[in-house]
Amino acid sequence: MAVLIYPFLALAAVGFVALLAIHCTALFGATYLFEHWLKFLVFGLFIVWLPTVLVMGHLTREFKQKDIWRAALRGCPQWLRRSLWILLGYTWVGFFVFPMIYGGGMDLPANKARSMSGVLLAFYSIAACVLYSATRVSKVDGGRRCVNGHGVSPLARYCEECGAPVQAVSKADSDH
Ligand SMILES: [Zn+2]
Repeated sequence: MAVLIYPFLALAAVGFVALLAIHCTALFGATYLFEHWLKFLVFGLFIVWLPTVLVMGHLTREFKQKDIWRAALRGCPQWLRRSLWILLGYTWVGFFVFPMIYGGGMDLPANKARSMSGVLLAFYSIAACVLYSATRVSKVDGGRRCVNGHGVSPLARYCEECGAPVQAVSKADSDH
């Protein structure tokens, strides 16, 4: 399964980097890149989004609705999850705030480029994180142990068997 994910993960990562660059240039008022690459980026998003949805269903199959994002992103290191939430917050707020800061309303091409590139950036980053999570999840799930060494289910914070807190898999896996 993981082998099939890598090409899409690579595409999502390339799309993310491209959009980051396009979004930054749009912040400075350059719309050329956005306008010329938009159709490819939307097309690319469709290609990565389908496997993302499938993978997400697979990752969250046994979890409650409220735990869906924790479950889907459990293979990602914590810094990546935090970065994702910050980025999503930024693009969501930016969508409404950019036209106000820059003035001229949503119809101005530069504002459209700023807001829309932010939205695409958000979708690409979700796809990249979910796909990356899927490539790492078996290792993360298999390595979860309580301080007494019992195996623990994927999202549990305390051992189901003895109640002891769950240990981080290893420093390298959990904190980077
Ligand atoms: Zn235990």
